[in-house]
Amino acid sequence: MSTLLDHLNIKRTINACGIYTDLGGSRLSDGVLAAMLSVNRDFVQLGPLLDETGRWIAQTFHADAARITPGAAAGIMLGTAACLAGSDGHYSERLPDVTGMKPKVLIQAPHRYKYDRQVSLTGAALTCLGTENGTRADQFHEALSKQDVSMILHPAHLDGKAGTLSLETVVEIARQYQIPVLVDAAYMVYPVDTPGTYIARGADLVTVSSKYYGGPNAGGFIMGRRDLVEAVSNVHFTAYESGTVLKFGRPLKMDRHTIVAVVVALDEWLNADHEARHEDYRKKVEHLKAQLNGIPGLLLESKCFTMDERFEDAPVNALLITVDEAITKRSAASLSDELFEQTPCIATIQEGDRIGVVMEVLNDDEVVVIGEQIRHVLGA
Ligand SMILES: *Cc1c(COP(=O)(O)O)cnc(C)c1O
Repeated sequence: MSTLLDHLNIKRTINACGIYTDLGGSRLSDGVLAAMLSVNRDFVQLGPLLDETGRWIAQTFHADAARITPGAAAGIMLGTAACLAGSDGHYSERLPDVTGMKPKVLIQAPHRYKYDRQVSLTGAALTCLGTENGTRADQFHEALSKQDVSMILHPAHLDGKAGTLSLETVVEIARQYQIPVLVDAAYMVYPVDTPGTYIARGADLVTVSSKYYGGPNAGGFIMGRRDLVEAVSNVHFTAYESGTVLKFGRPLKMDRHTIVAVVVALDEWLNADHEARHEDYRKKVEHLKAQLNGIPGLLLESKCFTMDERFEDAPVNALLITVDEAITKRSAASLSDELFEQTPCIATIQEGDRIGVVMEVLNDDEVVVIGEQIRHVLGA
């Protein structure tokens, strides 16, 4: 492996940050890789493969229907295109020109976040309701009564944020106007039944990223109402050359290997021993703590680095190192930079006087290397 990376002039990176697209997403298991190899031997028709894998995902989360997509960002984009174009292929072909369609997608102003941009890529006009401080029901009613709205985007991780209307309230209003609500539940994958809870709470479409459950970095799915999932198929990539319309989603195509990996990884995730997974993180944290114990100026704490990038107490998945620069003669930022410059490169979470070593995708050997390199850089 290192010869390949050497050949490409690429440095190996020890990922102590967790699951980040720029660092490669997740580590695929042997089982997932075996499934990818297996499907490499056989050609299959992607239409039926997408239908059957979708059926399995839908059953799993008690949704009417589902479809694998190349990630949750693609799920938002395809879901939006589906809500705009419906099952009319000619509309799909016309996107991002939304002439003749209802051009608006609503979002509560305090819900604005990085991935809402995928909505605009379809040609839809993302329309903010309320102010940064909050959004009210009457603002939804006013916007929806104008009959030019195709969808409402609701990011699951911001549900319940101060000043916002809850998913239940938004669904209740949206139903009065028959406007679908798409929930971005990209990282809401644990406890394992969480994605299905958004369906149960009334979401019309829910999208999830497989990067967060051990699947491909460029994988995920969208599930929900059958007519809308069918509309997603209608705007997605299959039958581009052989069909009658040049579908919008052609650049969001997928390999059969990835499609299979999305479901095999999900199956593994649903059946995994998550208590053992957390126990493994705790052990790794304890090992690193033991390795760094006694270095003057370092405060070592077991913490949970959350999906929304905060340090909490539990469940433990990270070692938080607070650096007392007066003693170490090195700031946390400089230590983190220096670790990044090592070979292999060590990527850590750094903020202020703290460095987080997140165990989620590290193996035991990598944890040892991190301990050694921290000692080396600090001359300890
Ligand atoms: C990572 C992420 C996405 C994008 O998911 P991809 O599968 O990488 O496209 C969307 N929303 C949130 C909240 C995310 O964290």
